Amino acid sequence: MKIINSHKNVSLEYEEDLILKIESLALKHYPNEFGGFLIGYYSDDLKTLVLTDVLSPNEYKSHRILFERSAEGIKEKLLELFKLNEKRYYVGEWHSHPDASSMYSLTDLNAMQSIAESETIRIKNPILLIVSINNQKLKNYTFYLYDNNTLFEYGRK
Ligand SMILES: [Zn+2]
Repeated sequence: MKIINSHKNVSLEYEEDLILKIESLALKHYPNEFGGFLIGYYSDDLKTLVLTDVLSPNEYKSHRILFERSAEGIKEKLLELFKLNEKRYYVGEWHSHPDASSMYSLTDLNAMQSIAESETIRIKNPILLIVSINNQKLKNYTFYLYDNNTLFEYGRK
């Protein structure tokens, strides 16, 4: 799959398998929210972001309409990934919205803002993926690109 963000004129690529993996993680935690870290790499011209995997948090708080992950132990996992393949980085976050739409909330926007402003993360345009699920399946999902205090939706082409 290849989707486009017209705000920045950049694209995002991922395999359908990655969405299936995310779907099964999200369903396993239904009716609570669940999520994790998006892993991938940028093309040489930085115009294309290729998502390759997700990492689940070691520690998290999860309720019906709340998901807070801790970054505890994730740095080590990322370093391991980087050793196996030099083109693997933390590029953003995903979480589920059980029985709700894939529209982001104000809390989601604020969380992305603190990620973009974090000294340790150093990523100006993190990605947010929200997956809408019910008790049986993934209903739909939306990718957003954070830039300058706003989340811009990716569109299919
Ligand atoms: Zn949310």
